[in-house]
Amino acid sequence: MVSKLSTTSHRSDIVGLKYVYPVISRRMGGLSIGINFNTNNACNWRCIYCQVPGLTLGAAPEIDLKLLEDELRLFLKDVIEGDFYERFDVDEDKRVIKDIAIAGNGEPTSLKEFPDALALIGKVATELGIFPQSRYVLITNGSLVHQAKVKAGLKVLDAYDGEVWFKLDSATEEGRALINNTAQSCKASVNNLMLATQCCKTKLQTCLVDYDNRGLSELEQSAYLDLLTEIKSSGCELQGVLLYSMARLSLQPEASKLKPLSFEVLDAFADKIRLLGFNVSVSR
Ligand code: SF4
Repeated sequence: MVSKLSTTSHRSDIVGLKYVYPVISRRMGGLSIGINFNTNNACNWRCIYCQVPGLTLGAAPEIDLKLLEDELRLFLKDVIEGDFYERFDVDEDKRVIKDIAIAGNGEPTSLKEFPDALALIGKVATELGIFPQSRYVLITNGSLVHQAKVKAGLKVLDAYDGEVWFKLDSATEEGRALINNTAQSCKASVNNLMLATQCCKTKLQTCLVDYDNRGLSELEQSAYLDLLTEIKSSGCELQGVLLYSMARLSLQPEASKLKPLSFEVLDAFADKIRLLGFNVSVSR
């Protein structure tokens, strides 16, 4: 049976592959080809809005690079030369590969073979003419950027003119503990952000949610704005800020206390960030 791929369809098993899956991206307005290294649904954080089913604490398992290559070639050829768009009834205006995004069911930089996997994806996508037209994106919580293998991977990404989307949901220790369930301090996160910007183009991605009807507090807003001011004055070159809220239901125990923030709230906060001199885009 043919399934329609839409902006709300994120079924990673839709094409029956282990590492490669298609998403019609709201943010990008076309096909985003996702690569999932975390086939065990393991992450080193536990964000309360996380939509990974059966999320567990841990790292990505060892990868089968040959299988990754075979799947990527097969899938890209199906999109370029086959009837992929017809089979999945993709809207005409979305029939364009916007990006290849490493965005798995967990933290992708925890993969031991991270630089090799990034190099392989870059090579295959270039050979098949996907790069440089389409973007190469890494979506990460940034917590492991200090590791040598992660920095090496970011340099590979940079060689393909790729970009890092670095998660920063809160600039307070309380907010990080509540939203991301991480013990990593804000300072350590910012240090990693600096390292990321030295390796590759980097944007901040910030998911803002309404927890327990608290909305977006003045305290959280001012801490975030202060941190961005500090980041800018340190000479760190950020390519932009991506603000968004939950588009789908959380699969975490806190789900019943979570609501997306309205576009009005996101837009008003985006305007405050723009006043600091950053490019900001908003999606939900
Ligand atoms: S970093 Fe991503 S995968 Fe990990 S818990 Fe948070 S939202 Fe889920």
